[in-house]
Amino acid sequence: MYDMALNGLDPEELLEVAIEEALAGLAEGGIPIGGAIYGPTGELVGRGHNRRVQHNDPSSHGETDAFRNAGRQSTWLDKIFVSTLSPCWYCSGLIYQFGFPTLIIGDDQGRKHESTEWLESNGVEVVQLRSPRLSKMFSPGPSPTRRCGPRTPGGGWRAARASRPGPGQARASPRGGQSPPHGADYRGPGGHDDLRRGQ
Ligand SMILES: [Zn+2]
Repeated sequence: MYDMALNGLDPEELLEVAIEEALAGLAEGGIPIGGAIYGPTGELVGRGHNRRVQHNDPSSHGETDAFRNAGRQSTWLDKIFVSTLSPCWYCSGLIYQFGFPTLIIGDDQGRKHESTEWLESNGVEVVQLRSPRLSKMFSPGPSPTRRCGPRTPGGGWRAARASRPGPGQARASPRGGQSPPHGADYRGPGGHDDLRRGQ
């Protein structure tokens, strides 16, 4: 079913490198999100992981790290982008900007994010794997992933997500009015900012 987008390549195999990167980030004490970029015949051209904590760099996401490590390419229009987690708006913008036609997502936390819908509406073929291995990595309980969520006393990022306003409800404004909780960055309407907040 993935043949059209992946030229017969196995998306589970392509995900492996991104998972390795996520685990490498975890071992470094960072946020476990990894990325990988492949050519059309499955050759690896870039890999990387989130280094926000390691480098004190909020712009270093798993996807941007893989993209930087890929270096200059003659084209991105035939490349396959892999991320262990649904790309945030920032990284979705990168995927759109450079024209990646295909995106493999290892885990989307059980829901399609608005940024993913936006990519699909702009012609990106998205393959959602919902890998059980990655779901475990982000399961509740003591986990380094907590450090990328808002600091909610007794809550953690899952509790904070549950308390976020739903569609049609008032949302905190970045300028004037109510401030976002705990000084968190405002990331626009929707997206999976709950996991990415503070990255
Ligand atoms: Zn990102």
